[in-house]
Amino acid sequence: MSEPTAPPSRAPRVVPCPTCRAPTLFTPDNPFRPFCSARCQGQDFGAWATESYRVGAESPPDTADD
Ligand SMILES: [Zn+2]
Repeated sequence: MSEPTAPPSRAPRVVPCPTCRAPTLFTPDNPFRPFCSARCQGQDFGAWATESYRVGAESPPDTADD
């Protein structure tokens, strides 16, 4: 075993998928990066959209206590 101290720069970068935490290739070859798949990408975006929508739509009129 004679491994160099520095990792090979040609090795693809692997990042955990934000949605399912699965090791995902962060390369131009992966159109869903940093997600592992379109499914995870869509789920994350959906959650984001839903949350944003909620924040904007749900305005609890709690000022009728006068
Ligand atoms: Zn994933």
